[in-house]
Amino acid sequence: MNTIIIHLESISMMQLQQFPNLYFMLYNLPIKRCWFNKFYSTCTSTIMAIADMLSGDLSRYEKSISPSYLTDSKPHNLLLNEVTPINKAFFYPNFWNEDDALALRHLFSDLTFFNDYSLFRKEIEIFMRKNDNFTLFIYDGSSSLAMLEDAEFNSRSYLEHWYNGKLRTIETVYFVIETLFTCKLQDKVQLLIYGDHGNDFLTHKSGGGHTHCFEPYNNLIHVPLIYYHPLLESHQVENVLSMESLHALLINGLSCNINDNFFTQFLDKQESFAFARNLYSNQSGVDMKLKKAYSITDGIYNLIVSCEGVKMYASNFDPTNHCNLLSYFLMQPNGMLEYQHFCVSENMPKQFTFVINQKRALEIIDAYTILQSKLHEAIKTVSEEANMYLFDDLDFKRINYNSS
Ligand SMILES: [Zn+2]
Repeated sequence: MNTIIIHLESISMMQLQQFPNLYFMLYNLPIKRCWFNKFYSTCTSTIMAIADMLSGDLSRYEKSISPSYLTDSKPHNLLLNEVTPINKAFFYPNFWNEDDALALRHLFSDLTFFNDYSLFRKEIEIFMRKNDNFTLFIYDGSSSLAMLEDAEFNSRSYLEHWYNGKLRTIETVYFVIETLFTCKLQDKVQLLIYGDHGNDFLTHKSGGGHTHCFEPYNNLIHVPLIYYHPLLESHQVENVLSMESLHALLINGLSCNINDNFFTQFLDKQESFAFARNLYSNQSGVDMKLKKAYSITDGIYNLIVSCEGVKMYASNFDPTNHCNLLSYFLMQPNGMLEYQHFCVSENMPKQFTFVINQKRALEIIDAYTILQSKLHEAIKTVSEEANMYLFDDLDFKRINYNSS
């Protein structure tokens, strides 16, 4: 059995939905697939995402002071190595700085960078023809190439340039699927295609300039996930799934005792919450003028905590997270919410005042109570060992009424 993982750089569900053609292409891949409507990244930066996806253990790199300087007390080899002996990672283009490249080499035992797109594709095909029993990781960063002046697209404007990059990353996915069939690998491969994070375009004013490490708002962490396994028929999955679970999903897919129900069983075991953070617990956001922030979502609401307090959004209806539902509440000293019949925050749009009332406020309080407890527990599990003072910085006892 073989495994192919394709990383979709900077492609979020929300952005995908803005471009029907891109959405249609990913949704209608020429292969049976499971499409996940509620898949969430565990972080908001590329290398953190890769590390989380490969290890399935969010606490593993938490002591790192940056994704560019990964520390790890355990062996560095990708855990999948233990199951499949041949591992290869192909990255295009090589736009990484020295530290990031080193961090990537820390994560992959055999990694090649390409600056030539056709060579990148050619080597993918050669690798797939030659090998069996492998894990292949493919990174096509074309989707964020608009940042680079010399990106090789024939575009009229910078926005078209950006679009063409995203289009090409999706075309790479098509190329890999075609190659699967030409190499007759389709019955002995599992294919995982995942988004790492979106771009916030500074709407939350969280950085002094463009940086990937925005706080984990819904539009940044709600990303696409597509999974192919020869024994699975096409279907849609509505359960919340976290990037943390992808490693287990892949190991499950490699299992020899596989049966038609394994996947459903796997999903049933998942808890319906997804946790995310923007920085490692030992990492400082000062340089990036960024607050360390943690979030949890049940696919309907999401709750975010930082040193400035807590914010909660109805992410289904407010995917860009601009309407903090807690703006209509006061926090009591015991941490319970108390509904106010007016908006406490001056920064909130007043329209919501007509939507919320005492009865509906109870729905919000119920959801908040569960999410608050799950978020606290998740931060403790993931980060406390790496930074025991973390909770001193996070303010669970205050509502953050700021608009950004
Ligand atoms: Zn990324």
